[in-house]
Amino acid sequence: MHIDSASREQLQEWEKELSAQYQRICEHELSLDITRGKPSADQLHLADKLDGILNGDYRAADGTDTRNYGGLDGLACARDLGADILQVPSEEVIAGGNSSLTLMYHAVLTGYLFGFAGNTPWRELENPKFLCPVPGYDRHFSICEQLGIGMVNVPMTDSGPDMDAAEELVRNDRDIIGIWCVPKFSNPTGVTYSEDTVDRLAQLGQIANPGFRIFWDNAYAIHDLEQQVNLPSIRSATLANDTADSVIQFASTSKVTFAGSGVAFVSSSPANLASLKQQMQAMTIGPDKVNQLRHSRFFAEFTMLKEHMQKHAEILKPKFACVLEQLEKSFGESDLGEWEKPRGGYFVSFNTRPGCATEVIKLAADAGVKLTPAGATFPYGKDPEDRNIRIAPSFPPLEEVDTAMSVFVLCVKLASVRKQLQ
Ligand code: PLP
Repeated sequence: MHIDSASREQLQEWEKELSAQYQRICEHELSLDITRGKPSADQLHLADKLDGILNGDYRAADGTDTRNYGGLDGLACARDLGADILQVPSEEVIAGGNSSLTLMYHAVLTGYLFGFAGNTPWRELENPKFLCPVPGYDRHFSICEQLGIGMVNVPMTDSGPDMDAAEELVRNDRDIIGIWCVPKFSNPTGVTYSEDTVDRLAQLGQIANPGFRIFWDNAYAIHDLEQQVNLPSIRSATLANDTADSVIQFASTSKVTFAGSGVAFVSSSPANLASLKQQMQAMTIGPDKVNQLRHSRFFAEFTMLKEHMQKHAEILKPKFACVLEQLEKSFGESDLGEWEKPRGGYFVSFNTRPGCATEVIKLAADAGVKLTPAGATFPYGKDPEDRNIRIAPSFPPLEEVDTAMSVFVLCVKLASVRKQLQ
């Protein structure tokens, strides 16, 4: 189907056929949901042995009684686990509670209220702003929006954020004090940053406001579907550029063990960790060390973690294959949309023709298929071209992903044809 070269008569004919198909689908009264990147029950089962693994032995290898208060940095063995995931030294890791998003929120608060490493608190700037590679992760944007931190869109390319644009913005605006990055299997585009991008990001600290921080949310660090994809080390790149204070890294086991009961990690330079801990110490006496110990026992060796991730991949692969097959079959030879083929992570990002995403999502909802709201992948929920749709196939069973995708492709066709007819 090529819309740009179709005659009006052809478009009208397609519209009639597609509308009839759409009516038939609506009669099925479906109730399917491919909105959020949650692990499926099968994936969660993989970690069920966490329950009971301590078997009454609550002491960590270093003698810590994990049931008691204390240890703001987290257990040593949990910090080792975070260090393995992020490929950084354990001394530079804090093992926290169950959510890396919470750690990100606290890190933004630290920068905003107190400033990192002796730098001016962001709230004292006239108009503090973050660069937001788009499309991106809605919850990053919510943090900024809630704190009144401005957001500036930077387009994503297939090797990471458009670095020419990012450098230009940082050079000309001292109020830019951060950038959100999901560097591996980015949410939602699935892109992994290239070596050149990582290097150029590491150099931003040389030209930016000294309080500038890169929020390196490595949520999908070990979530490869096939062979391992290598993400260049931002830590090495910043050390080489004398900008080690400019980056704060995050990860968690949310999509490794239990999404609601994992362990989250933050890693950064000693100066930034000291700033973070200064804020944290007023907030908590320490994280849930019992859960940290459970995780350390469950993944006694890093190889065990890697084997565990392969089992996740086996469950996820058919679902991603299904999404990609449906897209390829329907749009491979068309001008109706574009998408990336992710090699890991949790999403497939689809771009409709300009001005169609909202209508596709509405049509799908009316046919009983819930998609992430239009604009969700952009700051303030505003997709300037109304094109991006995030598809999250991990949670529903394969048959449901397949049915939902059949509805999705039909809605894309129908919305595109109707738009062209306007
Ligand atoms: N960061 C990204 C990019 C995510 O996609 C998600 C969850 O979807 C999170 C963070 C949430 O992580 P956590 O469960 O550790 O808070």
